[in-house]
Amino acid sequence: MIITMKKTAPKAEIDAVMGRLAAKGLQIHSSIGENYNVFGLVGDTSIIDPKQIEANPYVESVVRVGAPYKKANRLFHPEDTIVEVDGIKIGGKENIVVIGGPCSVEGEASICQIAQAVKESGGCMLRGGAYKPRTSPYAFQGLGKKGILALKKAKAQTGLPIVTELMSADKLDEFVENVDIIQIGARNMQNFDLLKAVGKTTKPVLLKRGLANTIEEWIMAAEYIMSEGNDQVIFCERGIRTFEPYTRNTLDLSVIPIIKEKTHLPIIIDPSHATGDWKLVESMSLAAIAAGADGLIIEVHENPQCAWSDGAQSLKPHKFTELIQKGRTIAQVIGRDIA
Ligand code: PEP
Ligand code: MN
Repeated sequence: MIITMKKTAPKAEIDAVMGRLAAKGLQIHSSIGENYNVFGLVGDTSIIDPKQIEANPYVESVVRVGAPYKKANRLFHPEDTIVEVDGIKIGGKENIVVIGGPCSVEGEASICQIAQAVKESGGCMLRGGAYKPRTSPYAFQGLGKKGILALKKAKAQTGLPIVTELMSADKLDEFVENVDIIQIGARNMQNFDLLKAVGKTTKPVLLKRGLANTIEEWIMAAEYIMSEGNDQVIFCERGIRTFEPYTRNTLDLSVIPIIKEKTHLPIIIDPSHATGDWKLVESMSLAAIAAGADGLIIEVHENPQCAWSDGAQSLKPHKFTELIQKGRTIAQVIGRDIA
């Protein structure tokens, strides 16, 4: 961190600012110039709030040199983190995982049927929401515990591990007991109490990017989970809100190489919520694989026209099969394979 103080700053003021920083264990290197006084801080500056220092009228600027995240930072953990669920590896250089399933769990028979179709298509995990974050309180809110138990039944029949969204920490025990990957939805990306709660478990967490969050805010959300002891975090890009109404969201594929450069955690892509349109899902999935994604999470429904939520972006099973076949070809070109 570099602090520049104005030439007009009285010595007592400089000493007070630097004294407070030194008391926090930081080393201070000063360079007194003609027009400014520049101070370089060395040590753990993640505990420093630059805005607090800028509140001093004699401070010209405060510039952070390093990233504010530590546990997620590739700098301190150069090798890829591989999250393993029932022997399936997410992350690393080889595997690409494809997770499929409906937006909402609609009942035991239907989720078991879709799970079977996902498995036959080559998917390796099952998604499905039992607690749904809907924009309208009058829309279907999910089957709740019944939905979780239906997912469990589908897992028992197919062996596919379950990914499903946790909306509230009061359901944490239910999820720890029954679920394989806990999804934190876009709308809860900065629900810090929820992040801390899942951080206290050892369950892998699929952390979706918020609708309007920067990459740094997203990584800091992962840092919340990791700072509580859980390093099993998987990023999931699901599109961000832009001025473009043609698609539901705008898929930001540039995050794949950026997340891989800045962090050691896996990243998967959700082309269903990113586009809102099943016709765009295949091309965005192939592009995501080519760009280095560690996996895809895709909405699949036997009869999208009758889906209880997100039918317009759901693939029928035969389209999902085709997508995986084409995806495998792209994966092999870049030396990977779909698990
Ligand atoms: C979902 O996965 O069904 C979902 C609601 O996703 P998101 O949080 O990305 O909107
Ligand atoms: Mn959905």
